Amino acid sequence: MPKAAASSRFAPTLQAPLLTLKDCTVKSLPPLLGATKTQLTDWVQAQGQPAYRGQQLHQWIYQKGARSLLDITVFPKQWREMVADIPVGRSELHHRSEAQDGTVKFLLRLADGQIIETVGIPTARRLTVCVSSQVGCAMGCDFCATGKGGFLRHLACHEIVDQVLTVQEDFQERVSNIVFMGMGEPLLNLENVTAAVRSLNEDIGIGQRSITISTVGIPGRIRQLAEYDLQVTLAVSLHASNQTLREKLVPSAKHYRLEALLADCRAYVERTGRRISFEYIVLAGFNDRTEHAFELAKLLRGFQAHVNLIPYNPINEVDYQRPTPQQLQAFLQVLQRQHIAASIRQSRGLDQDAACGQLRASLAESVG
Ligand code: SAH
Ligand code: SF4
Repeated sequence: MPKAAASSRFAPTLQAPLLTLKDCTVKSLPPLLGATKTQLTDWVQAQGQPAYRGQQLHQWIYQKGARSLLDITVFPKQWREMVADIPVGRSELHHRSEAQDGTVKFLLRLADGQIIETVGIPTARRLTVCVSSQVGCAMGCDFCATGKGGFLRHLACHEIVDQVLTVQEDFQERVSNIVFMGMGEPLLNLENVTAAVRSLNEDIGIGQRSITISTVGIPGRIRQLAEYDLQVTLAVSLHASNQTLREKLVPSAKHYRLEALLADCRAYVERTGRRISFEYIVLAGFNDRTEHAFELAKLLRGFQAHVNLIPYNPINEVDYQRPTPQQLQAFLQVLQRQHIAASIRQSRGLDQDAACGQLRASLAESVG
Protein backbone atom coordinates (compact mmCIF):
# COMPACT_ATOMS: atom_id res chain seq x y z
CA MET A 1 0.00 0.00 0.00
CA PRO A 2 1.35 3.48 -0.75
CA LYS A 3 2.53 5.34 2.32
CA ALA A 4 0.02 8.17 2.00
CA ALA A 5 -2.90 5.75 1.98
CA ALA A 6 -1.52 3.98 5.04
CA SER A 7 -1.04 7.19 6.98
CA SER A 8 -4.55 8.46 6.32
CA ARG A 9 -5.88 5.28 7.91
CA PHE A 10 -3.27 5.62 10.61
CA ALA A 11 -4.74 8.75 12.17
CA PRO A 12 -8.16 8.73 13.81
CA THR A 13 -10.49 11.37 12.48
CA LEU A 14 -11.81 13.94 14.86
CA GLN A 15 -14.81 15.74 13.44
CA ALA A 16 -14.80 19.35 14.44
CA PRO A 17 -18.29 20.75 14.24
CA LEU A 18 -18.79 24.34 15.31
CA LEU A 19 -20.27 24.09 18.78
CA THR A 20 -22.77 26.42 20.34
CA LEU A 21 -24.07 26.24 23.88
CA LYS A 22 -27.27 24.69 22.56
CA ASP A 23 -25.96 21.86 20.35
CA CYS A 24 -22.96 20.91 22.46
CA THR A 25 -23.91 17.25 22.99
CA VAL A 26 -21.44 14.59 24.10
CA LYS A 27 -22.55 12.02 21.57
CA SER A 28 -21.66 14.12 18.55
CA LEU A 29 -17.90 13.96 19.20
CA PRO A 30 -15.47 11.10 19.74
CA PRO A 31 -13.29 11.34 22.87
CA LEU A 32 -10.34 13.69 22.53
CA LEU A 33 -7.65 11.21 23.59
CA GLY A 34 -5.98 9.75 20.51
CA ALA A 35 -6.30 13.00 18.53
CA THR A 36 -3.20 14.67 17.09
CA LYS A 37 -2.07 18.20 18.04
CA THR A 38 -3.25 19.40 14.61
CA GLN A 39 -6.68 17.83 15.03
CA LEU A 40 -7.06 19.38 18.49
CA THR A 41 -5.97 22.76 17.15
CA ASP A 42 -8.48 22.53 14.27
CA TRP A 43 -11.15 21.63 16.78
CA VAL A 44 -10.55 24.59 19.12
CA GLN A 45 -10.25 26.98 16.18
CA ALA A 46 -13.56 25.75 14.77
CA GLN A 47 -15.05 27.11 17.97
CA GLY A 48 -13.47 30.50 17.66
CA GLN A 49 -10.63 29.83 20.08
CA PRO A 50 -7.04 30.82 19.23
CA ALA A 51 -4.71 28.11 17.85
CA TYR A 52 -2.49 28.04 20.93
CA ARG A 53 -5.42 26.61 22.91
CA GLY A 54 -4.96 23.44 20.81
CA GLN A 55 -1.38 23.14 22.07
CA GLN A 56 -2.62 23.67 25.64
CA LEU A 57 -5.36 21.07 25.22
CA HIS A 58 -2.81 18.58 23.90
CA GLN A 59 -0.52 19.18 26.86
CA TRP A 60 -3.30 18.92 29.44
CA ILE A 61 -4.79 15.66 28.17
CA TYR A 62 -1.51 13.87 27.40
CA GLN A 63 0.83 15.24 30.06
CA LYS A 64 -1.12 16.87 32.85
CA GLY A 65 -3.71 14.12 33.30
CA ALA A 66 -6.85 16.20 32.62
CA ARG A 67 -9.85 13.87 32.87
CA SER A 68 -12.38 16.54 31.94
CA LEU A 69 -12.15 19.80 30.04
CA LEU A 70 -13.27 21.47 33.29
CA ASP A 71 -9.84 20.50 34.73
CA ILE A 72 -8.05 22.73 32.22
CA THR A 73 -7.74 25.83 34.34
CA VAL A 74 -5.87 27.85 31.70
CA PHE A 75 -9.00 27.87 29.52
CA PRO A 76 -11.55 30.68 29.89
CA LYS A 77 -14.15 29.56 32.42
CA GLN A 78 -17.12 30.25 30.17
CA TRP A 79 -15.76 28.18 27.28
CA ARG A 80 -14.66 25.39 29.64
CA GLU A 81 -18.19 25.11 30.95
CA MET A 82 -19.60 25.14 27.45
CA VAL A 83 -17.49 22.15 26.33
CA ALA A 84 -17.47 20.38 29.71
CA ASP A 85 -19.42 17.43 28.34
CA ILE A 86 -16.97 16.65 25.54
CA PRO A 87 -15.30 13.44 26.78
CA VAL A 88 -11.54 13.34 27.18
CA GLY A 89 -11.83 9.56 27.07
CA ARG A 90 -10.34 8.45 30.38
CA SER A 91 -11.49 5.19 31.98
CA GLU A 92 -12.16 4.71 35.70
CA LEU A 93 -10.00 2.68 38.02
CA HIS A 94 -12.06 -0.32 39.17
CA HIS A 95 -9.40 -2.28 41.03
CA ARG A 96 -5.65 -2.05 41.71
CA SER A 97 -3.45 -4.77 43.11
CA GLU A 98 0.28 -4.71 43.68
CA ALA A 99 2.42 -7.84 43.70
CA GLN A 100 5.46 -8.28 45.91
CA ASP A 101 7.81 -7.68 42.99
CA GLY A 102 6.28 -4.23 42.34
CA THR A 103 4.14 -5.30 39.36
CA VAL A 104 0.78 -3.52 39.48
CA LYS A 105 -2.39 -4.88 37.89
CA PHE A 106 -5.21 -2.51 37.09
CA LEU A 107 -8.79 -3.32 36.22
CA LEU A 108 -10.24 -0.36 34.35
CA ARG A 109 -13.93 0.36 33.83
CA LEU A 110 -14.77 1.65 30.37
CA ALA A 111 -17.55 4.13 29.61
CA ASP A 112 -19.99 1.27 28.81
CA GLY A 113 -19.16 -0.57 32.05
CA GLN A 114 -16.89 -3.23 30.49
CA ILE A 115 -13.80 -4.13 32.49
CA ILE A 116 -10.31 -4.54 31.02
CA GLU A 117 -6.95 -5.48 32.44
CA THR A 118 -3.69 -3.49 32.25
CA VAL A 119 -0.37 -4.28 33.93
CA GLY A 120 2.52 -2.01 34.91
CA ILE A 121 5.84 -3.82 35.16
CA PRO A 122 8.73 -1.85 36.71
CA THR A 123 12.37 -2.91 36.42
CA ALA A 124 15.55 -1.02 37.32
CA ARG A 125 15.68 0.90 34.03
CA ARG A 126 12.23 0.46 32.53
CA LEU A 127 8.55 0.81 33.11
CA THR A 128 6.67 -1.50 30.77
CA VAL A 129 2.91 -1.45 30.27
CA CYS A 130 1.07 -4.54 29.12
CA VAL A 131 -2.04 -3.22 27.36
CA SER A 132 -5.29 -4.85 26.26
CA SER A 133 -6.56 -4.37 22.71
CA GLN A 134 -10.01 -5.95 23.05
CA VAL A 135 -12.56 -6.80 25.74
CA GLY A 136 -12.08 -10.57 25.75
CA CYS A 137 -10.74 -12.54 22.78
CA ALA A 138 -12.32 -14.67 20.08
CA MET A 139 -9.30 -16.90 19.46
CA GLY A 140 -9.96 -19.36 22.30
CA CYS A 141 -6.40 -20.55 22.98
CA ASP A 142 -6.58 -23.47 25.35
CA PHE A 143 -4.22 -22.15 28.05
CA CYS A 144 -5.51 -18.56 28.16
CA ALA A 145 -7.98 -17.12 30.69
CA THR A 146 -9.02 -14.35 28.26
CA GLY A 147 -9.66 -16.87 25.49
CA LYS A 148 -11.88 -18.93 27.80
CA GLY A 149 -14.13 -15.93 28.38
CA GLY A 150 -14.87 -15.24 24.68
CA PHE A 151 -14.98 -11.94 22.77
CA LEU A 152 -17.05 -8.89 23.72
CA ARG A 153 -15.76 -5.94 21.67
CA HIS A 154 -12.77 -4.07 20.24
CA LEU A 155 -11.15 -1.31 22.26
CA ALA A 156 -11.24 2.18 20.75
CA CYS A 157 -8.01 4.10 20.26
CA HIS A 158 -8.60 6.29 23.34
CA GLU A 159 -9.23 3.22 25.51
CA ILE A 160 -5.77 1.91 24.60
CA VAL A 161 -3.99 5.25 25.10
CA ASP A 162 -5.76 5.69 28.46
CA GLN A 163 -4.21 2.47 29.80
CA VAL A 164 -0.71 3.85 29.29
CA LEU A 165 -1.56 7.20 30.90
CA THR A 166 -3.10 5.38 33.88
CA VAL A 167 0.10 3.41 34.53
CA GLN A 168 2.30 6.47 33.99
CA GLU A 169 0.25 8.46 36.50
CA ASP A 170 0.13 5.65 39.05
CA PHE A 171 3.92 5.10 38.98
CA GLN A 172 4.63 8.82 38.58
CA GLU A 173 7.27 7.75 36.11
CA ARG A 174 7.56 7.85 32.34
CA VAL A 175 6.52 4.67 30.58
CA SER A 176 9.43 3.36 28.51
CA ASN A 177 7.97 0.25 26.85
CA ILE A 178 4.58 -1.03 25.75
CA VAL A 179 3.58 -4.60 24.94
CA PHE A 180 0.23 -5.48 23.40
CA MET A 181 0.08 -8.67 25.43
CA GLY A 182 -2.97 -8.05 27.58
CA MET A 183 -6.49 -9.12 26.67
CA GLY A 184 -7.34 -9.54 23.02
CA GLU A 185 -5.85 -10.11 19.60
CA PRO A 186 -4.42 -6.79 18.36
CA LEU A 187 -4.35 -7.71 14.66
CA LEU A 188 -8.13 -8.19 14.73
CA ASN A 189 -8.36 -4.54 15.84
CA LEU A 190 -5.63 -3.26 13.56
CA GLU A 191 -7.07 0.16 12.79
CA ASN A 192 -7.51 1.21 16.42
CA VAL A 193 -4.26 -0.43 17.51
CA THR A 194 -2.20 1.38 14.86
CA ALA A 195 -3.97 4.66 15.65
CA ALA A 196 -3.06 4.12 19.31
CA VAL A 197 0.55 3.36 18.35
CA ARG A 198 0.71 6.67 16.50
CA SER A 199 -0.69 8.53 19.50
CA LEU A 200 1.55 6.76 22.03
CA ASN A 201 4.51 7.62 19.84
CA GLU A 202 3.74 11.19 18.80
CA ASP A 203 1.52 12.47 21.62
CA ILE A 204 3.09 10.71 24.61
CA GLY A 205 6.61 10.31 23.22
CA ILE A 206 7.16 6.57 23.45
CA GLY A 207 9.58 5.29 20.80
CA GLN A 208 8.01 2.97 18.23
CA ARG A 209 10.88 0.56 18.73
CA SER A 210 9.86 0.27 22.37
CA ILE A 211 6.38 -0.93 21.39
CA THR A 212 5.68 -4.64 20.81
CA ILE A 213 2.56 -5.99 19.13
CA SER A 214 1.92 -9.64 19.96
CA THR A 215 -0.26 -11.79 17.72
CA VAL A 216 -1.33 -15.39 17.53
CA GLY A 217 -1.41 -14.91 13.74
CA ILE A 218 -4.40 -13.85 11.61
CA PRO A 219 -4.36 -14.65 7.87
CA GLY A 220 -3.40 -11.57 5.83
CA ARG A 221 -2.94 -9.30 8.85
CA ILE A 222 0.83 -9.62 9.36
CA ARG A 223 1.36 -8.46 5.77
CA GLN A 224 -1.19 -5.69 6.34
CA LEU A 225 0.64 -4.53 9.48
CA ALA A 226 3.91 -4.46 7.51
CA GLU A 227 2.31 -1.96 5.11
CA TYR A 228 1.94 0.61 7.88
CA ASP A 229 5.75 0.85 7.86
CA LEU A 230 5.97 1.12 11.63
CA GLN A 231 9.13 0.51 13.61
CA VAL A 232 7.34 -1.56 16.25
CA THR A 233 8.45 -5.07 17.21
CA LEU A 234 6.22 -7.93 16.12
CA ALA A 235 5.89 -10.88 18.51
CA VAL A 236 4.30 -14.01 17.08
CA SER A 237 2.78 -16.48 19.53
CA LEU A 238 3.98 -19.77 18.05
CA HIS A 239 3.70 -22.08 21.09
CA ALA A 240 4.40 -25.29 19.15
CA SER A 241 7.02 -26.77 16.88
CA ASN A 242 4.64 -28.53 14.51
CA GLN A 243 1.15 -28.16 13.04
CA THR A 244 -0.52 -30.97 15.02
CA LEU A 245 0.67 -29.70 18.38
CA ARG A 246 -0.21 -26.10 17.53
CA GLU A 247 -3.77 -27.01 16.55
CA LYS A 248 -4.29 -28.51 20.00
CA LEU A 249 -3.38 -25.23 21.69
CA VAL A 250 -4.55 -22.61 19.19
CA PRO A 251 -7.88 -23.49 17.50
CA SER A 252 -7.39 -20.91 14.72
CA ALA A 253 -4.19 -22.67 13.61
CA LYS A 254 -6.39 -25.08 11.61
CA HIS A 255 -7.18 -22.23 9.22
CA TYR A 256 -3.69 -20.71 9.19
CA ARG A 257 -1.08 -23.40 8.83
CA LEU A 258 2.42 -22.99 10.23
CA GLU A 259 3.98 -22.80 6.75
CA ALA A 260 1.66 -19.92 5.77
CA LEU A 261 2.24 -18.11 9.08
CA LEU A 262 6.02 -18.40 8.74
CA ALA A 263 5.92 -17.29 5.10
CA ASP A 264 4.05 -14.15 6.21
CA CYS A 265 6.63 -13.62 8.97
CA ARG A 266 9.43 -13.84 6.39
CA ALA A 267 7.66 -11.28 4.21
CA TYR A 268 7.30 -9.02 7.28
CA VAL A 269 11.05 -9.20 8.02
CA GLU A 270 11.85 -8.46 4.37
CA ARG A 271 9.53 -5.48 4.18
CA THR A 272 10.33 -3.90 7.56
CA GLY A 273 13.90 -5.05 8.22
CA ARG A 274 12.74 -5.70 11.80
CA ARG A 275 13.51 -8.87 13.73
CA ILE A 276 10.53 -10.94 14.91
CA SER A 277 10.09 -12.35 18.41
CA PHE A 278 8.51 -15.78 18.64
CA GLU A 279 6.62 -16.51 21.85
CA TYR A 280 6.57 -20.11 23.02
CA ILE A 281 4.46 -20.94 26.08
CA VAL A 282 6.13 -23.90 27.79
CA LEU A 283 3.67 -26.54 29.02
CA ALA A 284 5.47 -29.29 30.93
CA GLY A 285 5.15 -32.71 29.31
CA PHE A 286 3.25 -31.26 26.35
CA ASN A 287 5.47 -29.10 24.12
CA ASP A 288 8.77 -29.09 26.05
CA ARG A 289 10.46 -32.33 24.99
CA THR A 290 14.00 -32.27 23.54
CA GLU A 291 12.66 -33.24 20.11
CA HIS A 292 10.30 -30.25 20.22
CA ALA A 293 13.26 -27.94 20.83
CA PHE A 294 15.15 -29.45 17.87
CA GLU A 295 12.04 -29.21 15.69
CA LEU A 296 11.54 -25.56 16.67
CA ALA A 297 15.18 -24.74 15.91
CA LYS A 298 14.79 -26.34 12.47
CA LEU A 299 11.59 -24.41 11.81
CA LEU A 300 13.25 -21.06 12.59
CA ARG A 301 16.62 -21.68 10.99
CA GLY A 302 17.80 -18.76 8.86
CA PHE A 303 15.20 -16.45 10.41
CA GLN A 304 15.94 -13.04 11.95
CA ALA A 305 14.25 -14.23 15.12
CA HIS A 306 14.37 -14.32 18.88
CA VAL A 307 12.49 -16.96 20.86
CA ASN A 308 10.89 -16.04 24.20
CA LEU A 309 10.09 -19.04 26.34
CA ILE A 310 7.10 -18.27 28.59
CA PRO A 311 6.55 -20.65 31.50
CA TYR A 312 2.83 -21.47 31.69
CA ASN A 313 0.94 -19.67 34.47
CA PRO A 314 -1.75 -22.05 35.67
CA ILE A 315 -5.36 -20.96 35.10
CA ASN A 316 -8.41 -22.64 36.61
CA GLU A 317 -10.11 -24.20 33.62
CA VAL A 318 -7.32 -26.49 32.32
CA ASP A 319 -4.73 -28.78 33.84
CA TYR A 320 -1.52 -28.07 31.94
CA GLN A 321 1.58 -28.07 34.14
CA ARG A 322 4.06 -25.28 34.74
CA PRO A 323 7.61 -26.41 33.83
CA THR A 324 10.37 -26.47 36.45
CA PRO A 325 13.33 -24.07 36.00
CA GLN A 326 15.46 -27.11 35.05
CA GLN A 327 13.02 -28.18 32.32
CA LEU A 328 12.98 -24.64 30.93
CA GLN A 329 16.76 -24.41 31.03
CA ALA A 330 17.15 -27.73 29.18
CA PHE A 331 14.80 -26.55 26.40
CA LEU A 332 16.62 -23.20 26.17
CA GLN A 333 20.01 -24.88 25.88
CA VAL A 334 18.95 -27.05 22.93
CA LEU A 335 17.77 -23.92 21.09
CA GLN A 336 20.93 -21.99 21.87
CA ARG A 337 23.18 -24.86 20.81
CA GLN A 338 21.28 -24.80 17.52
CA HIS A 339 22.20 -21.08 17.24
CA ILE A 340 18.69 -19.80 17.87
CA ALA A 341 18.64 -16.60 19.96
CA ALA A 342 16.38 -17.40 22.88
CA SER A 343 15.61 -16.39 26.45
CA ILE A 344 13.26 -17.27 29.27
CA ARG A 345 10.60 -14.66 30.10
CA GLN A 346 10.61 -13.99 33.83
CA SER A 347 7.18 -14.35 35.40
CA ARG A 348 6.12 -11.14 37.09
CA GLY A 349 3.36 -10.55 39.60
CA LEU A 350 2.70 -14.26 40.08
CA ASP A 351 1.01 -13.67 43.44
CA GLN A 352 -1.50 -11.40 41.66
CA ASP A 353 -2.81 -13.73 38.94
CA ALA A 354 -0.13 -12.97 36.37
CA ALA A 355 -1.55 -14.75 33.33
CA CYS A 356 -3.37 -12.80 30.65
CA GLY A 357 -6.98 -12.10 31.66
CA GLN A 358 -6.60 -14.00 34.89
CA LEU A 359 -7.13 -11.19 37.36
CA ARG A 360 -10.31 -10.10 35.59
CA ALA A 361 -11.53 -13.71 35.52
CA SER A 362 -10.78 -14.35 39.19
CA LEU A 363 -12.41 -11.11 40.30
CA ALA A 364 -15.50 -11.90 38.24
CA GLU A 365 -15.65 -15.25 40.04
CA SER A 366 -15.29 -13.74 43.48
CA VAL A 367 -17.90 -11.11 42.69
CA GLY A 368 -20.29 -13.84 41.62
N1 SAH B 1 -3.51 -12.32 21.46
C1 SAH B 1 -2.14 -12.00 21.40
C2 SAH B 1 -1.70 -11.05 22.49
C3 SAH B 1 -2.30 -11.25 23.85
S1 SAH B 1 -1.88 -12.79 24.63
C4 SAH B 1 -1.27 -13.25 21.41
O1 SAH B 1 -1.82 -14.33 21.66
O2 SAH B 1 -0.10 -13.14 21.11
C5 SAH B 1 -0.21 -12.38 25.08
C6 SAH B 1 0.62 -13.52 25.57
O3 SAH B 1 0.09 -14.04 26.80
C7 SAH B 1 0.69 -14.66 24.57
O4 SAH B 1 2.00 -14.87 24.11
C8 SAH B 1 0.17 -15.82 25.39
O5 SAH B 1 0.86 -16.94 25.09
C9 SAH B 1 0.40 -15.39 26.83
N2 SAH B 1 -0.44 -16.16 27.76
C10 SAH B 1 -1.77 -16.34 27.71
N3 SAH B 1 -2.17 -17.18 28.71
C11 SAH B 1 -1.07 -17.54 29.39
C12 SAH B 1 -0.83 -18.39 30.51
N4 SAH B 1 -1.82 -19.05 31.11
N5 SAH B 1 0.45 -18.52 30.94
C13 SAH B 1 1.46 -17.85 30.34
N6 SAH B 1 1.30 -17.04 29.28
C14 SAH B 1 0.04 -16.89 28.79
FE1 SF4 C 1 -6.53 -14.48 22.52
FE2 SF4 C 1 -3.85 -14.26 22.79
FE3 SF4 C 1 -5.37 -15.40 24.71
FE4 SF4 C 1 -5.01 -16.67 22.39
S1 SF4 C 1 -3.41 -16.16 23.91
S2 SF4 C 1 -6.97 -16.45 23.48
S3 SF4 C 1 -4.99 -14.98 20.97
S4 SF4 C 1 -5.45 -13.30 24.06
